[in-house]
Amino acid sequence: MQNSLQDLENRYIIPTYGRNYTNFVSAKNATIKDDKEKDYIDFTSGIGVVSVGHANDIVSKAICDQASSIMHISNLYVIEPQVKCAERIVKQSGFDMQCFFGNSGAEANEGAIKIARKYGEVEGESKRYKIITLDKSFHGRTITALKATGQEAMHNYFGPFPDGFAYAEDIDSVEKMIDDHTVAVMIELVQGEGGVQPLDKQKVQALAKMLKAKDILLIVDEVQTGVYRTGEFLASNVYEIEPDIITLAKGLGGGVPIGVVMTSKKDVLKAGDHGSTFGGNYLSTAAANAVMDILSEAKDSGELDRTFIKFETRLEDLYKKYDKIFTSSVGFGLMRGLRVRDAQTLSDIISKAHENGILVLKAGRNTLRFLPPLTISDTEISEGFKRLDEALSSL
Ligand code: PLP
Repeated sequence: MQNSLQDLENRYIIPTYGRNYTNFVSAKNATIKDDKEKDYIDFTSGIGVVSVGHANDIVSKAICDQASSIMHISNLYVIEPQVKCAERIVKQSGFDMQCFFGNSGAEANEGAIKIARKYGEVEGESKRYKIITLDKSFHGRTITALKATGQEAMHNYFGPFPDGFAYAEDIDSVEKMIDDHTVAVMIELVQGEGGVQPLDKQKVQALAKMLKAKDILLIVDEVQTGVYRTGEFLASNVYEIEPDIITLAKGLGGGVPIGVVMTSKKDVLKAGDHGSTFGGNYLSTAAANAVMDILSEAKDSGELDRTFIKFETRLEDLYKKYDKIFTSSVGFGLMRGLRVRDAQTLSDIISKAHENGILVLKAGRNTLRFLPPLTISDTEISEGFKRLDEALSSL
C-alpha cells in the first residue's frame, strides 16, 4: 500500500514537498494512527492548524451540521456564521477593527498589503507604498507574500516581483530604513518558520509608538501566533500593542482552510476593492466559531494556561537533560523551540522521533519546533516527552 501510494504520488503530485510516506488514517486529539495501527503523539498539530486537536467532536459536529444545511452561497449575500465569527474575533482581540475573510495565511497577508497600499495611495501628501519586513520572516508563498518574506533564497526563479519591499536586519534597524515612500512595517511577533524567534517586547512597543507618530501602519502577521497559540487570543495582546492590521489563519479553522485580515482602518477598502469566492463561507466560519468556543472556554477556565505550564515543564526538563544537544530554549505558550547544536543532529532527531512515534517539526536551520494542539492532554504530553526522550537517548 505504502509503495503504491508513493508511486502514485510520484506520478501525479508536483514534487514541492520533501515528504515522509507514513500513511496516517485516523486521529483523536494529539494521537494519530497510521495504516499499520502504529500510534504517534502529535507535537505539530499540522503546523499549528489543528488547534483543538484532531477529530474534535464539537468542531466535527459543527462542520457536519453546517454541511448538511448550507455550505456556500457567496459573498454577494450576508453570511450569518461569517458575521458572528468576525464579531467574536474582534471582541476577543479587544481592538476596534473589522475583518475580511480569505482562505489562507498568504491570502490574509495579501489583503493586509492591499489595505496598506491603498492607505498609502489615498492618505497623506505623498503616495506611499513601501513595506518594511524583517530578515528571516515568513509571510507566505504567493508572489507578493513571498516578496514580503525576508529570505532572499526563496525569491530565486520567481521574479520579477512587485516593487516596494525592503528588509530590515532586525527590529533596531527598521527606523533608519523608513523613507517618504514607507507606508507600513510588517512583523511576526514570534518568527515561526524563521526559527521560533520572539521579538523583544519593549522594542516592539517602542516600534509601535514610533510608527504611530509617523502615520506608518503596523501590520502584525499572526498567522502562526494567533488564536491562543502564544497564551492570549493574539500575540499582540501578549505584547500589549495595538497594530493597525492583523492577519490570522492556521489555528482559527481547526483544520478547515480560513484566513482573516482585520484592521482598524475600516474605511480604506470599498466595495469592489477586494474579494474572495470561498473566503468566509458558511462551512469555514462555522468551524472557526466552534474552535473559538472551545478555546475561549479553555482560556477562561484556566485549562489552557495549565496545559502550557505542563508542556513547558516537560520541555525544560528535556532541554536540561540533553544540554550537549540543545543550545537554547526559545518561544512561549505552545509555540516553542529547542535550538540544536547542528542541522544534521536536528534531522537525526526528527527521523528518530518519528520512528519512535512522536511527531516534531523543524524551523529555520537548527530549531526543533513544537506546535502541539492547544487541547493536548496530560497523558499525551507525558507519553510524547517519554518517546522523545527515548529517541534522543538512542542518538
Ligand atoms: N505567515 C506566517 C507567519 C506563517 O507561519 C505562514 C505559514 O507557515 C504563512 C504566513 C502562510 O500561510 P499559508 O501557508 O496558510 O498561506
